[in-house]
Amino acid sequence: MTLNTLIPSLFRKEVLAMTAYKVADAVGLIKLDAMENPYGWPEDFKRQWLETLKECPLNRYPDPEAQLLVQTIRTHDQIPAQHAILLGNGSDEIIQLLLMALPPNASVLSPAPGFVIYQQISNCLGLGYHGSPLLAHDFELDLPAMLAAIELYQPAVIFIAYPNNPTGNLFNPGSVHSIIKAAKGVVVIDEAYAPFAHASFIGSLEHYENLLVMRTVSKLGLAGLRLGYIAGNPELIGQLNKIRLPYNINSLTQLSANFALTHKALFDQQTQAICTSRAMVFNWLNNMDGITAYPSSANFILFRVGQGQADKIHASLKQQGVLIKNLSPQGGLLSDCLRVTIGTEHENTAFIGALTNSMSKH
Ligand SMILES: *Cc1c(COP(=O)(O)O)cnc(C)c1O
Repeated sequence: MTLNTLIPSLFRKEVLAMTAYKVADAVGLIKLDAMENPYGWPEDFKRQWLETLKECPLNRYPDPEAQLLVQTIRTHDQIPAQHAILLGNGSDEIIQLLLMALPPNASVLSPAPGFVIYQQISNCLGLGYHGSPLLAHDFELDLPAMLAAIELYQPAVIFIAYPNNPTGNLFNPGSVHSIIKAAKGVVVIDEAYAPFAHASFIGSLEHYENLLVMRTVSKLGLAGLRLGYIAGNPELIGQLNKIRLPYNINSLTQLSANFALTHKALFDQQTQAICTSRAMVFNWLNNMDGITAYPSSANFILFRVGQGQADKIHASLKQQGVLIKNLSPQGGLLSDCLRVTIGTEHENTAFIGALTNSMSKH
């Protein structure tokens, strides 16, 4: 048996057809490609955090239910006691858990362009993934198209990112409610960018048994911890909990996230600063000739450059030491689009300077 014959016979065709999720190397660059919070912690804050880690028993398995952290999240996000909460190693793991639990012929629906992991995991599991195009001029939900797709594909799961990634907008809440009502499966509202949006469906959980709300601490400022969570009906969450690996949230993450979320003031201050900078970057972008920036309720801004210019501008920015995300290769509504994460004041100024420079050359 050689690997040439072993590999095609060993793996499912969906796995063989995939390419690995690629993360750009950012060494030495101003990193504005991944929606990270750019701010660090004050020294005394770090010292208190290290104090809490000191007694962590690393020889023991973590609390499999992460009870303390679940309680802290419940308080932090004001999730009423009647809804259950499940934690994941990033919300990516929760997406995987949910999709893994579906029957093999199930289908999955989400607005497109959307978060790529929904499609990536669906494809890997051999599920039928369908993207329903957003409206071209403002990336709003095309409600009739979504309702028709629900009718046609009868999706087991519908993912709606609110605000949406990579477009940054909050969809019309009335349209989202119509989708939840029309759905015969589960609707997951992915609120990864909630800290920047001041809008949520947590308050709607009590009205719909088929609604789940998912969040993450990644965009808030704790991307390195890998912690996401999903809230909703205890019977639905209970099914997912059966296939969760027993110790999926490690002890250091449990302690650190608990520490951070009980010190909300620092993160409120940081997210507020990011929102203020977002308004400045948005104005700068829209005042530049040849650029259209789209309004954002997240910690990034999607913008469109001249036809066929995106690759060159992206490369030129990188050459000047600024890494952002080029979405143009995804094509469709994202042709000629780039996405910049809001950084510190210094980083934002460097980005705009580099962009001005690139634009004058192309
Ligand atoms: C970043 C992001 C996630 C993934 O978050 P992790 O918790 O870091 O896995 C999920 N959904 C959307 C829409 C995102 O942009």
